[in-house]
Amino acid sequence: MIPYGRQSIDETDIAAVVDVLRGDWLTQGPAIDRFEEALAERVGARHAVTFSNGTAALHGAAAAAGLGPGDVLATSPLTFMASANCARYVGATVELVDIDAATLNIDLTQVRSGLAALVPVHYAGLPVDLRALVERPRVIIEDAAHSLGALTPYGPVGNCALSDMTEFSFHPVKPITTGEGGAVTTNSDELADALRTFRTHGIVRTPERGGWYYEISTLGFNYRMTDIQAALGLSQLRKLDAFIARRNEIAERYRDRLADDPVILPPTTPDGFTHSYHIFPIRVEQRRRIFDGLRANDIGVQVHYVPIHHHPISADIGVKPGDLPACDRAYEQLISLPTYPGLSDQEQDRVVATLRSLLES
Ligand SMILES: *Cc1c(COP(=O)(O)O)cnc(C)c1O
Repeated sequence: MIPYGRQSIDETDIAAVVDVLRGDWLTQGPAIDRFEEALAERVGARHAVTFSNGTAALHGAAAAAGLGPGDVLATSPLTFMASANCARYVGATVELVDIDAATLNIDLTQVRSGLAALVPVHYAGLPVDLRALVERPRVIIEDAAHSLGALTPYGPVGNCALSDMTEFSFHPVKPITTGEGGAVTTNSDELADALRTFRTHGIVRTPERGGWYYEISTLGFNYRMTDIQAALGLSQLRKLDAFIARRNEIAERYRDRLADDPVILPPTTPDGFTHSYHIFPIRVEQRRRIFDGLRANDIGVQVHYVPIHHHPISADIGVKPGDLPACDRAYEQLISLPTYPGLSDQEQDRVVATLRSLLES
């Protein structure tokens, strides 16, 4: 089976993890600090705060921003549920804004005024151009689960040049992995403090009242990453440039091979941006038949995503049929083709040949 995505682990990753296992700290030790410093430096943000996964990181960001009941958070309908659930976790309300049919990203020109929060998702790894936003909501949390390593004319995704916080995921299919893992980057000292408190039970230490003493005055969680994971993350981060380069090479190869086939290729990358190609989502007619045919040939394609408003949980959002036409139209046709650094040219050629024979049959 050729999966749609998978991790790339080498001997240096394994050695980094084994080192931690032989040491004194399995969690909350020095590897966490080193990974957070390296990640912050890599994306050009003041702070990086790691979490146990990207969903927890989004929850932390929504809580640190002070979002709660009565606040409306807008996001794209073409994303993973976590982008919307971060509002639900804190009692805020989700609103969906249709995608731009060309970029498959949220259409910022349709974002209304008066929002508490916006969660732009850099879908597939193509950055949302946040300069197109007409009015800045109180809080902007970028969902960059797909886009570590992506670049914009205003710097690396994660530098928070035009946002308050940026969330990353380190799930095995994402640009780098820690097994499970996530992080939030920010330039705000206050938000970084709030994120750290939130991920550790709401604990605030006050050593002047005794070495044992700490206080909890806000609701927190145990959302920490382990040192084992952080060591893997640090080792993976060193290879990020090579991973992104290979993902772009694979994307260019698909574009070249599929140029004359009846498929809609993913949006191209505007000047000044670098795509991280977490996925390569093409659009085809008869998606069900093509999807089943690829799966039957051991090609593990996927659809990103069943839109947020198609899930029963989203009845609370009150989207009516036809409200989000660009998303619904794209969803009918989307298939993500295998894209990950370890995909060989031969494997990719088999994907292309199988797809072509299905398109012709
Ligand atoms: C993967 C992903 C997340 C959540 O990440 P986890 O680490 O799996 O919790 C959030 N948003 C998007 C768009 C994702 O793809």
